[in-house]
Amino acid sequence: MNHLTIRLLWVLCCWLGPFSLADVSAASVKGADGANQMWARLLDEAGRLRLPTKFLQAVRPDFIHFEFDDLRTYAAEYHPDEHRMVLNRSLSFNSAGRTLKPLGKMTHKELEVLYHELFHAYMDYLQVIEKHSSNPDHGSGGLLSFARKQQACRYEEVRITPVALRKDDTESRYLTKTESWEALNETWAVFIGWAVWNQLEVQRKAGKSMFRDPQKIHQWIGRLKIAFEKGDLRGYYVPEDPDERRLAQKRYLAKPSQLTVKEAEALIEQVLGFQHDFIKRFVASVEPHTVSVC
Ligand SMILES: [Zn+2]
Repeated sequence: MNHLTIRLLWVLCCWLGPFSLADVSAASVKGADGANQMWARLLDEAGRLRLPTKFLQAVRPDFIHFEFDDLRTYAAEYHPDEHRMVLNRSLSFNSAGRTLKPLGKMTHKELEVLYHELFHAYMDYLQVIEKHSSNPDHGSGGLLSFARKQQACRYEEVRITPVALRKDDTESRYLTKTESWEALNETWAVFIGWAVWNQLEVQRKAGKSMFRDPQKIHQWIGRLKIAFEKGDLRGYYVPEDPDERRLAQKRYLAKPSQLTVKEAEALIEQVLGFQHDFIKRFVASVEPHTVSVC
């Protein structure tokens, strides 16, 4: 993933379009104090909205360099080499490109995008911590070692959809290490965005956390079951082979290579930090249909 920029599609129909890299005029959040304040505000606002904060609390406040730009094709980009997150200017306060818009003013779609990118930053952070730590109990190991096992077991050979809109036409691909790591990261980030968007939708009329209402939890789990059945939880990667890239700038994984229940369970517990009885209910409701060999 190191030399790759991870991008999130804003408009699905543009997936074959040219990349829109952030140009040098992008505005950034200035200074460590500004970054620390913005991070503290983000955590506070996420908590008020009852959105997941477990993984965000693990990240050093000044780790991510936030920038805002007029992105055309993608709503956001994350550059691991520089720990740089470029968000569309519409996600900044008053669209001025200086600091993040209050989370309470964001649409559910914007929060989905933000959480997708924050998850990329979290995975980047875990790898940085791992690289610089001589202590095996540095706290980043659990999810990373699980990720590497899944990468080897599930993402080295995948099914893709050569034509994005024809979901049932699939082909096999053997991925390089870089491609399989990107495919895993995108699949997982898609799920984190999905989880947040659906939590917000379920809570929309209730005005309180879904965790205080068993019916709302039931609804969220029901939505997840449907997403698995429809094959919605699929990631993508940029082919390294120039010939393949000439055919498609991105390759989308097919339903047989979508997220597994086991992966969802790990992400719900270790990243989103949902309560244990919630996880038990989720596993009990979906496990019989989708057993992973990994
Ligand atoms: Zn992404």
